[in-house]
Amino acid sequence: MPNQAPSETREEPAALENAGPAIRLSGLRKHFGDVHAVDGVDLDIPPGEFFSMLGPSGSGKTTVLRLIAGFDLPTEGTIEFDGHDVGRLPPFERDVNTVFQDYALFPHMSVQQNVEYGLRVKRVPKQQRRERALEALKTVRLEDYGSRKPAQLSGGQRQRVALARALVNRPKVLLLDEPLGALDLKLRQAMQLELKQIQRDVGITFVFVTHDQDEALTMSDRIAVFNDGKIEQVGPPEEVYERPASAFVAGFVGTSNLLGGRGAETVIGRPGLFSIRPEKIRIDGDLSEPAAVGHTSATGTVTDVVYAGATVRYSVALDAGGRLSVVRQNTDGTAQFGDGRVRLSWRDEHSFQVQ
Ligand code: ADP
Ligand code: MG
Repeated sequence: MPNQAPSETREEPAALENAGPAIRLSGLRKHFGDVHAVDGVDLDIPPGEFFSMLGPSGSGKTTVLRLIAGFDLPTEGTIEFDGHDVGRLPPFERDVNTVFQDYALFPHMSVQQNVEYGLRVKRVPKQQRRERALEALKTVRLEDYGSRKPAQLSGGQRQRVALARALVNRPKVLLLDEPLGALDLKLRQAMQLELKQIQRDVGITFVFVTHDQDEALTMSDRIAVFNDGKIEQVGPPEEVYERPASAFVAGFVGTSNLLGGRGAETVIGRPGLFSIRPEKIRIDGDLSEPAAVGHTSATGTVTDVVYAGATVRYSVALDAGGRLSVVRQNTDGTAQFGDGRVRLSWRDEHSFQVQ
């Protein structure tokens, strides 16, 4: 209820709308000798958000997750859960659970026993343990698999057991480190949708690590793009994709053209480095037609055509200098413009300056 006056809600301290961030990282650093694995991270993650940390291998994602979980202590900076500093608390005193890619289920235990295990350690009474495990298994749609052994499950089902094992503890925050990385593409895509649905059902905060941009775009409420221990940009998927803040983000999240130098000066009309997504560019064999109002255009020669089934990708050498990649929906079943002269055009706002 964003338009409610603060005075009306002050009586309800538990109201989610008024709560501060579930997790707040301030000036977070982690150094391993000379390696600055995490190099000054500031981040607020509100409760109930599906938050992704996206970045190439070695960019510091796992280290941030381990700091949040308490497996490592920060070199500098603070970690708060619901406004409380937890930076020095051991993992078991933090209200989080972690799901790794290597789900490490106990092979000799049944699915039910695996899920109950954490509760048994906490000496939760038997009946309650059963009920909570069954509830967690229902959440991941495995309620009929309780008596099986992990070896009798598919990879996706095993990953769901690992998820149930974390959910059974009812943590406020679930940390997931590339949990779908071991699954093949089809299964991974199915699990992405399922995981997102589970997160909506349980409503707890998910902090999800991935190096896969499609995965981050598909699943997240917001994404932080990591590069070299730092966050380059934080925002909803559309914002990170449509308005990348840097050349790095433009290149890592989707593919993007970068136009600079003389090409940019001539085509855009001012110097700088500009990002243009390949699918935003229209390609046309008719060079005589002038650019429509509010559009930027450039002529060039097709130097390469890649037929990819659903789409066709053209590489175009601009007359003004530089090269643009263009993706066209394959609506007519032919790869046109081979080696031809073409005119490219796009809406002005689709080329924008990046650092
Ligand atoms: P990501 O999860 O994004 O792939 P990591 O957080 O695992 O990246 O690693 C970030 C950087 O920190 C890498 O250069 C990695 O080699 C280094 N690093 C991570 N853990 C350790 C460690 N325990 N000792 C030394 N270097 C480490
Ligand atoms: Mg990692």
